[in-house]
Amino acid sequence: MQIGNYLRGLLGYSKAQYAIKLAEVFKDWQRPAASCDLPEDQLRYIHDASKCPYCKSKYGLYEGPRGGASINLFCGNPDCDSRFNVVDPSFGFVGIGQFTGRCPEDFIEHRRKEIADGMV
Ligand SMILES: [Zn+2]
Repeated sequence: MQIGNYLRGLLGYSKAQYAIKLAEVFKDWQRPAASCDLPEDQLRYIHDASKCPYCKSKYGLYEGPRGGASINLFCGNPDCDSRFNVVDPSFGFVGIGQFTGRCPEDFIEHRRKEIADGMV
């Protein structure tokens, strides 16, 4: 291991910043009409940017229920209303996950209220 890589590993920010910049240039992905497996570049975007690949909203993603090694992620933009099931990002990047349709209605209502109240 190079000493520079070792130090970057200790500081833990250089590579992540670079990855987010790369992720931001990914193209326009269309929200699928039905549940489906996510292609690896969209999974990478979710993992690196912690944002929904369809609306790329500043509201980011919210954690929903977990099951085993996977976690539900809800887009924080209620107008997008996209839900994902991915391998928990704390395990590192794993290129397996799905778009699973719409978010729970109570989550969408909660988000609309937070945004209206300026809580973002
Ligand atoms: Zn979204």
